[in-house]
This record gives sequence, C-alpha cells and structure tokens, in this order.
Amino acid sequence: GEDLYVRVPAGTLVRDVERDALIADLKEHGQTFIVARGGRGGFGNAHFATPTRQAPRFARNGLPGEDRTIALELKLLADVGLLGFPNVGKSTLLSVVSAARPKIADYHFTTLTPNLGVVSAVGESFVLADIPGIIEGASEGVGLGLDFLRHVDRTRLLIHVVDVSGLSGQDPLKAFDTINEELKKYRPELADRPQIVAANKSDIITNQEEYDAFCAEIQKRGYPLFTISAATKKGTDELMAYTAERLSQIPVEEIEIQPDLPEVNLPVGEPTFTVRRDNETYVVEGDWVLRVMGSVNFDDYESLGYFQRVLRKAGVIDKLEEMGIEEGDMVRIDSLEFEYMP
Ligand code: GDP
Ligand code: MG
Repeated sequence: GEDLYVRVPAGTLVRDVERDALIADLKEHGQTFIVARGGRGGFGNAHFATPTRQAPRFARNGLPGEDRTIALELKLLADVGLLGFPNVGKSTLLSVVSAARPKIADYHFTTLTPNLGVVSAVGESFVLADIPGIIEGASEGVGLGLDFLRHVDRTRLLIHVVDVSGLSGQDPLKAFDTINEELKKYRPELADRPQIVAANKSDIITNQEEYDAFCAEIQKRGYPLFTISAATKKGTDELMAYTAERLSQIPVEEIEIQPDLPEVNLPVGEPTFTVRRDNETYVVEGDWVLRVMGSVNFDDYESLGYFQRVLRKAGVIDKLEEMGIEEGDMVRIDSLEFEYMP
C-alpha cells in the first residue's frame, strides 16, 4: 500500500497512548516520524519461480502492518509568554511589538485562544505568546485556565504584565503575587521560569504612592522591571530589547522523548514454537508459527507445500516425530487442523 502521511503543525508532540510515552517531538517544518510501519510485503508467484518450476501457482501474503494508538498534542512554540490578570494590557502589548492582531477589549475573557506574534529586537527574533486564561479560569473558578496553560509549557521566559494605573481596583503587588501563586499551584514548572515585570498603563498612573511602592518591592525582590505604556508604546522597545537579550542566554530545553518503539508485528525471524499434546492432537504454538501462517495462502495447493517445507525446515516436523506422532494423528496450528502424513 501507499505510505500514509498525516500532516501536523510544527510543535506537535506524538504520544504513544498505550505506553503513555512521548515518541516524537515534531518541532521543525518538514520533519517526519514513522508511527506505524506497514507489514512486510508479500511475494507474488514470480518470486518463487525456479528453472524447474517456471510458473509456480503459489504466492505469499504480506504480513499485517503495525497498529498503534497515538495522541497528537500541539504545543505552541512560543519563547516568551505574557502573564498577567485580564485587562492589564497583554494583548495590547503583543499588538504593538509584533504584527499579531489579537482582540483588545476593556473586559475580561477577551483572549480565549492564545495569540502569537513574532518580535524582532536587537537583531534577534522570538515568538511572544499572549497567554490567556491563567487567572480567568483559575482564580474565578471558571475552569478555562488549565486547558490553555499547556500552551506555555515551552516558553523560556515570562513577561509579567501588571496594571499600575491604580484604576484596576486591585493593588498591583497583590495582583502580581496572586498570579504567581496560581502559577505555582497549577504549573510549578512554569513558576520557575524567569520573569520580567512590565508595569503597564504608566500613562494614566493615578496613585503615585502605590506605583512607587510596587516598583520598590519588585526591585527589592530582584526582578528586572520596565515601566511601560502599551497604549502609547512608551518603553516597549526597551522591554523587547532586554527580553531578546535575556532570551539568548536561556537554552532551549529539549523535551524528553522515547522514540524506540517496540515493534508490534515482528518480521518472521528465529523460528520459535512449542508443541504439546492435547489428547490425540498435537498442538503447535508460538508467535513465529502464527506469523508464518499469516503469510501463507491456504487456498492454494502449492502454498500448502511451501508451508510444509517451512515447518520441516524450522524443525517442527522433527519435533512432532520426536514426540511420537504417527500417520493419521491430528496436528493443530492455530485454526488449521490437519492429519499427519509422513
Ligand atoms: P489583556 O486582557 O491583558 O489582553 O488586556 P488588553 O490588551 O485587552 O487591554 C485591556 C484594556 O486596557 C484595553 O481597553 C486597552 O486599550 C487598555 N490598555 C492596554 N494598555 C494600556 C496602556 O498602556 N495605557 C492605557 N491607558 N490603557 C491601556
Ligand atoms: Mg488579552
């Protein structure tokens, strides 16, 4: 049969469902991975032609192909994630530093699917993702958050956007801590990612004291801090330049994959079989025998002859005789039963 290709977006992980193991990380355009091999092909009768048997009437069936259940997971290939409460200006920031055009609106739940934008800064370029849902779902009990969080698993750096205008009705420091707590709770591995803090909406600061206190505390904790206004683009270039530089110092983590798939249908290999007696019947068992059976066309007389020769060559007949089989005794192999005739 023809090869079957399933096209997936770059960033797709392939999981072997039965073993629950990642078997491929398709992160590059054009990358391919064989999930299941086709069975060994059969042979047409021409294959069995010899000088004395020029038109053999038998052929050998192919073996069935591998059978595997896989799950495909799309992980966005974002380098940097935008973190923060709804309405702090994440989408606005993404839209002013990249060509992405996410929905921007003055209400919660504006971003239900992650938006990506490519940012170019100081000669580098990276992918910035507007991470939706983290708090929308988590802290408000809506349950949207977790589903989206896996999209940011691969980000190496987070920009934590905080509204410092004093108009959000929430203390910026408290907002910052709340987000980090949620992150730790639901994605501990993400909580360890380095964060850059972006104090946004600085164009409309109404509570200077609160803003100053926030900056002092964030700096005290050792975070890089940028005061910006996404709406007016003030400070956004500096933030992106710093982000690009910081990012270039963080190595890309390889996802651990276990590609060595156990073969599901082994090709016919070492003849292994067992013979046992079941009253007057000799029962031949074993995977190898089953595979041979699968490759024989039993409707054909010459194929049967071939099958007998294979059994003889593999020592099955010898073994039967050793066990005292006599003419007329029954032999059973899988669903095939026949009378033994030496
Ligand atoms: P998100 O939910 O974090 O993605 O926030 P949005 O980007 O959708 O912005 C929410 C609201 O804040 C929108 O009305 C924006 O226009 C507004 N906004 C975003 N950044 C700024 C800013 O720097 N200054 C001001 N004044 N408004 C902003
Ligand atoms: Mg948004």
